[in-house]
Amino acid sequence: MFIADNFKTVMNRIAAAASRAGRDLSSIQLVTVTKTVDPARIREAIAAGANALGENRVQEAQEKIATLGALAHWHMIGHLQTNKAKFAVKLFDLIHSVDNVGLVRELDKQAAKINKVQNVLIEVSIAGEAAKAGVSISNTVKLVQEAAQCGNIRVLGLMTMPPFSDDPEDARPFFRKLREMAVSIDQERISGISMQSLSMGMSNDFEIAIEEGSTLVRVGTAIFGER
Ligand SMILES: *Cc1c(COP(=O)(O)O)cnc(C)c1O
Repeated sequence: MFIADNFKTVMNRIAAAASRAGRDLSSIQLVTVTKTVDPARIREAIAAGANALGENRVQEAQEKIATLGALAHWHMIGHLQTNKAKFAVKLFDLIHSVDNVGLVRELDKQAAKINKVQNVLIEVSIAGEAAKAGVSISNTVKLVQEAAQCGNIRVLGLMTMPPFSDDPEDARPFFRKLREMAVSIDQERISGISMQSLSMGMSNDFEIAIEEGSTLVRVGTAIFGER
């Protein structure tokens, strides 16, 4: 029961943030993050209206998709190892976390084998923290250009995870920066590339992300409780 209530509350908060920002609600999609959540509780979220589910590990996703697969779209939001690309192309409608050229090429190759065009986002290390996932700001355009050369990869936009902070306002400049990067990449007019999607915002900061232009918010804890 509480999952359905939480889901509804998050949807209402998304709508309120969209309205504050003067944005059309239909331009924002909620990705319900189901990592570590068991199938019975995922079913409750689906019943409440969750139609896009985010997982961060290929094997865990594979198990869930075996039973719940047809009930929702599945998104890969966590770090993806190149040697898992062959599984990922079979499992995910959108991969948010593409951050290196080796992975781009392997996804392209594996997607070609199953006659798929794999939708991806490029994950940017927006704060430039050395240990964090994501391509550096300075290498992002080059990676997008590489991906644009791949016939079985379609880049739809950018994703980021700002450094953790208790104060969601701290994330705002990073969200704004990602949006500016997307605008500037669009201006490069790279063949086949349009930066229509911005995956940014989690439980503690999704409203700020929406105010800064997010089109995909990835929310787990606010729906399922603490992991
Ligand atoms: C776990 C996770 C989320 C969801 O985080 P919550 O704080 O639980 O909403 C979003 N994005 C990524 C990449 C994650 O790994």
